[in-house]
Amino acid sequence: MKDIIKFSTIVLLGTSLLSSAFGEKMQVVNGKNIINPYYSRTDTKILKIPNSTWKKVLSSDLYSVARLGDTEAAFTGKYNEFDSKGTYYCAVCGNALFRSDAKFASTCGWPSFYEPIRPKSVIYKKDESFSMVRTEVRCGRCDAHLGHVFDDGPKPTKKRFCMNSIALEFEPLKISQN
Ligand SMILES: [Zn+2]
Repeated sequence: MKDIIKFSTIVLLGTSLLSSAFGEKMQVVNGKNIINPYYSRTDTKILKIPNSTWKKVLSSDLYSVARLGDTEAAFTGKYNEFDSKGTYYCAVCGNALFRSDAKFASTCGWPSFYEPIRPKSVIYKKDESFSMVRTEVRCGRCDAHLGHVFDDGPKPTKKRFCMNSIALEFEPLKISQN
């Protein structure tokens, strides 16, 4: 009898989001680990950075959604069916965007929230692409495209902030240990 040993090779190409000890974010861009110097969870200063610069510090998938307005395919995002407690930050700049308490089970295929963490966390822009009139939601700090907001959400706001998972970064609630 011959023993057949199967080796499954798991190739980790490096997760696209690696947080450093200094709160900067490292991403794999063109196969290299690049530090995003604009990323901060404490600095709320508005960023005005051209796309040519963002292209050098963001992974191509994040760049396409956040800076070019692409939409990730429905039901594919990592936070679509996800209900852990914590806070969602902008994956581009670290700005706090949503609390998990405001997330609700939506059938639309993208993570959905009924309100942002603070009114100025996000900004709104009229979007008339694809022969539709929609309200685009952007990050209030770095102007990244996050998704759209619709009027068919649950109480108390009746809003549905329909977001691209890739533009969000989730930080679980820390349980204090004494
Ligand atoms: Zn941002």
